[in-house]
Amino acid sequence: MEVRTRFAPSPTGHLHIGGARTALFNYLFAKRYGGKFILRIEDTDLERSSVESEKVIIESLRWLGIEWDEGVEVGGPDGPYRSTERVDIYKKYVDVLFEKGYAYYCYCTEEELEAQRQELLSKGQMPRYLGKCRNLTEEQKRRFEQEGRKPAVRFRVPEGVKIVVHDLVRGEVEFLSDDIGDFVIVKSDGIPTYNFAVVIDDHLMKISHVIRGEEHLSNTPRQILIYNALGFDLPQFAHVSLILGKDRTKMSKRHGSAWVEQYKDQGYLKEGLINFLALLGWSPPEDKEIFDMEYLIENFSLDRVSKNPAIFDIDKLNYINSQH
Ligand code: GLU
Repeated sequence: MEVRTRFAPSPTGHLHIGGARTALFNYLFAKRYGGKFILRIEDTDLERSSVESEKVIIESLRWLGIEWDEGVEVGGPDGPYRSTERVDIYKKYVDVLFEKGYAYYCYCTEEELEAQRQELLSKGQMPRYLGKCRNLTEEQKRRFEQEGRKPAVRFRVPEGVKIVVHDLVRGEVEFLSDDIGDFVIVKSDGIPTYNFAVVIDDHLMKISHVIRGEEHLSNTPRQILIYNALGFDLPQFAHVSLILGKDRTKMSKRHGSAWVEQYKDQGYLKEGLINFLALLGWSPPEDKEIFDMEYLIENFSLDRVSKNPAIFDIDKLNYINSQH
């Protein structure tokens, strides 16, 4: 099977260190195994996405030397590669889910959902959708429509099921479907959500390995449910650890604004940055700290990616940069 990986940024800002590392690991993994690396822009969040951000991300990747074989700008057989240009494709699969009984319209308002959330929280329970609109009659739907309510589409999560994520970095991670609750796959504005679009895209783009940040691990059981409902084969998943500041807290402005464009402007070398990014969670097979892209392509493997948080240390970046 051909190895096909992808980097799928949401264009909502700069290319941060975490995103750049994800892109690099996907690139290296594809190159190591003679596969393809794809760049897809996930712009389903219409309010936060921007063309400028997409441009900055693309320029940052190109500066780093992380080139993609298929994707935005370069094209490829499975395009378009921007989510908002794929809405018609997603709709077809929403229809399939309706036909199979896995999708239903939900007319709940923001206020109703928030009230439900608060109620569950006050009882010490996990906030989730309790399925209020699961079994609406045609008559009830008509009434909501007449009130001018625009429905979202939810995925009907099977009850009492255990979902196991076989993760190449983290091993087996279990989730219970009852903790998830029926989730939205198409928003009331007609735009599919990330969790839905990503499954359709990864399937149609024949992605073999989904390598991404740990913050997406909790999305994975939702995505697996959709894969199963549509009868798609699962890709292999690999969730790489969070990047923390030296004080072991989540990276934030306090740690300096850690994005690629800024390091470029400050005169860092791309070779130094690539070397540093690789060490954020991966360790080389030999006792060596300074290396180049060629070495990485020859030696990168997921079994040397740690599940412990990576620590961002600017002194280390400066040292590595000085060695290039
Ligand atoms: N668009 C997501 C993000 O920027 C990526 C999700 C994924 O890789 O599946 O975080």
